[in-house]
Amino acid sequence: MKSYQIVDWGQPLEARQVDMPVPRGNEVLVKVGAAGLCHSDIHLRDGYFDLGGGKRLTAAQYGAKMPMTLGHEIAGTVFQVGEGVKQAWTGANVLVYPWIGCGKCDACQDLRDTDCEAQRSLGAKADGGFSEYVLVPDARYLIDIGQLDMHASATLACSGLTAFGALKKMPPMKPTDRILLIGAGGLGLSALAAARLVTKAGLVVADIDPIKLEAAKQQGADVIFDNRTPDTAAALKAAAGGPIRGVIDFVGSGTTASLAMGVAVKGTVIVVVGLMGGSLEIALPLLSPRNLTIRGSHVGTFDELKELVEFSRNGQLPGIPLTRRPMSEVNEALSDLENGKSVGRIVLTPN
Ligand SMILES: [Zn+2]
Ligand SMILES: [Zn+2]
Repeated sequence: MKSYQIVDWGQPLEARQVDMPVPRGNEVLVKVGAAGLCHSDIHLRDGYFDLGGGKRLTAAQYGAKMPMTLGHEIAGTVFQVGEGVKQAWTGANVLVYPWIGCGKCDACQDLRDTDCEAQRSLGAKADGGFSEYVLVPDARYLIDIGQLDMHASATLACSGLTAFGALKKMPPMKPTDRILLIGAGGLGLSALAAARLVTKAGLVVADIDPIKLEAAKQQGADVIFDNRTPDTAAALKAAAGGPIRGVIDFVGSGTTASLAMGVAVKGTVIVVVGLMGGSLEIALPLLSPRNLTIRGSHVGTFDELKELVEFSRNGQLPGIPLTRRPMSEVNEALSDLENGKSVGRIVLTPN
C-alpha cells in the first residue's frame, strides 16, 4: 500500500510502498476514505516543538518514530478485523479515535487515553492515515458514522474534538460574558461550530488575518478583532462588549499567551491548546488575587468524540469550510497550511 511518511526530519513526506498490515487480536484494518491535515503535522514533519528560550522538544523525544506515516484525522471503511473482534465491523464506515493510550494503565481503563503516559497515538507516535490503509490497535477506538460525510467527519477527530474539549473547560457563563478564541484557523472555526452546544457566552475571535476573520464571522463569531491593532490587549478588551471570562488560545505562542493574560478579568480561565511555541512569564503574586486559571487542554476523550459525532448526526453541529485535495498533494497542502493559505480544514483523499 502507498503511505506518505516522514523519512527525515524537516524534509517533505515521501510516498512509500509499505507492506499492508494484517490485523491480529482486537486490531482493525481501515481503508482510509479521508484524512485531515493539522498544524501539528507540520511540527512533527519539522521534527521539533519550540519550547521558547531556544529550547526544543524534538519529535523523537516526544515519541515519534521514523519512518512514520502522518495523519491523525481519519475516516474510512473497515476492511479487515483481527480474530478477537466480536462486533461485525467489516464494511462499516467509521471515524477513528487516534489518541490511543497503552490500554493498560489507570487512565486508559477509565477511557482517559489522553492522560496516558505511554500513548501510541496514530499519526503522531504510530503510523497514521496519510495512507491507503491504517491499522487501529483495538476496535474499541472506532465510531460508526453510517452515511455521514467522511471528509467532514474526519476533522472531528482532532480539530472538532480539540475545540470541543477546550470549550468544555470553560466555566458556566451568561450571554453577556465573553469567550475569546485566539486563532481563526481550523480549530477556531471548529470552536465556533461547537460553541452553542456548550456555552451561552458571546464569542470573540482574534486573528491577524482578515480573510480568516471573515470566515469566523461567517461561522457565527459575535465579534471579530484584528490582532495587529496597536495597544492590542486594551483595544480587544474594549471591542469585546463584555468581560472576557474565558480564553482559548489555539495559537499557543508567547505573544498570544501574553495577550490572554492582558485581557483577563478576575476569575478568567485561560486554556492553551496551540503548540506554536514559546513560553510565558507569570508574576506569581498576581495569580491568586486575580483568581486566574491557566491550563492546557489536549484533544479530548473517546466519549467526547462519540458525543460530537452524535451532535453531527442530529444536525446540531454546523460544518466548517473544507478543502478536499488528493493525498498525492500532501506536501503542497502542508506548505499552504504553514503559510496561512488555507481557510478551514484541508482534507486529503487517497488516490
Ligand atoms: Zn491535530
Ligand atoms: Zn495508558
